Amino acid sequence: MKKRIVLYKRLSDALLAKLEEQVEVTWVDTGAADGLARLRDALPGAHGLLGASLRLGSELLDLAPQLEVISSVSVGVDNYDVADLTRRGVMLTNTPDVLTETTADTGFALILAAARRVVELADWVREGKWQASLGPAHFGTDVHGKTLGIVGMGRIGEALARRGAAGFGMRVLYHSSRARPEVEARHAARYCSLDALLAEADYVCLTVPLSASTEGLIGARELGLMKPEAILVNIARGRVVDEAALIEALQRKRIRGAGLDVFVQEPLAADSPLLQLDNVVATPHIGSATHETREAMARCAVENLLSALAGQRPPNLVNPI
Ligand code: NAP
Repeated sequence: MKKRIVLYKRLSDALLAKLEEQVEVTWVDTGAADGLARLRDALPGAHGLLGASLRLGSELLDLAPQLEVISSVSVGVDNYDVADLTRRGVMLTNTPDVLTETTADTGFALILAAARRVVELADWVREGKWQASLGPAHFGTDVHGKTLGIVGMGRIGEALARRGAAGFGMRVLYHSSRARPEVEARHAARYCSLDALLAEADYVCLTVPLSASTEGLIGARELGLMKPEAILVNIARGRVVDEAALIEALQRKRIRGAGLDVFVQEPLAADSPLLQLDNVVATPHIGSATHETREAMARCAVENLLSALAGQRPPNLVNPI
């Protein structure tokens, strides 16, 4: 008999067909009004779950005594209590690597947009305000040749370092849980303390996972160490930054600006003070959101799930059990 899975992320027809060849699929639209109720109904029979952007707490997991694997369509696993899953003997898998380059592209899109005021000035043109040639009031700041500070030198951090060093002739500083000599050799990057990075970088880019050690990593003190002309880019998770402190620093122009793809509360409320600020570029968590990358992530998640349910060790197992 086929094992049963609950799918809560839409898949392409080809991937859905591949799944359905091997498992019985129950689709649940967690965004629908009755989504949570339907999920609760489906959990008791589920051997696997495949989806993303859903916090699966113990109250939901208790409903799924047969659960063998959760295949998350994401690299970040901050939505899960990994230790609890391990205790329950539930495998957790993620989708690293396939989204690295796209997410680094997003990081650079935010660096460039914030530095060159792309969104603000494009809106200005659209509003019919471009009536004469520009003066210094509308100038931005350079990216090439500046100092890029990367906080979290992992996969995405290194992809940013490569773009910065090779593409934009930037000096690359990084802070991470450990020094990465091979990355230093490849991109002439220099390891330093977080405080030193904040004090020297023109662009501070966050690429750490959200964890107990990174929650609130960038608060008022850290923002105070940044140069007034520096720009903060967050493509990690919203809670890595103390958002209230960031809003204050931006309002007071303690730093030049911010490019933000992630927020404490997502979707970001339309009345967020961040959206009142010209020096903020806010995107709706688009880090990996391209057709190609989302399909590659979904394919990876399907492979992880099917391999786990076949009794094999899945390729991207987060919690070896
Ligand atoms: P990764 O390869 O694991 O890189 C994370 C790096 O951060 C690692 O080098 C890690 O060091 C380091 N680190 C962990 N805790 C730290 C701390 N307290 N202080 C300093 N460094 C620390 O992960 P990745 O694939 O690059 O992804 C990073 C994160 O980006 C994900 O977890 C996810 O939250 C976020 N992300 C966001 C989007 C988006 O849509 N905006 C898309 C993809 C990913 P060790 O390896 O030594 O622990």
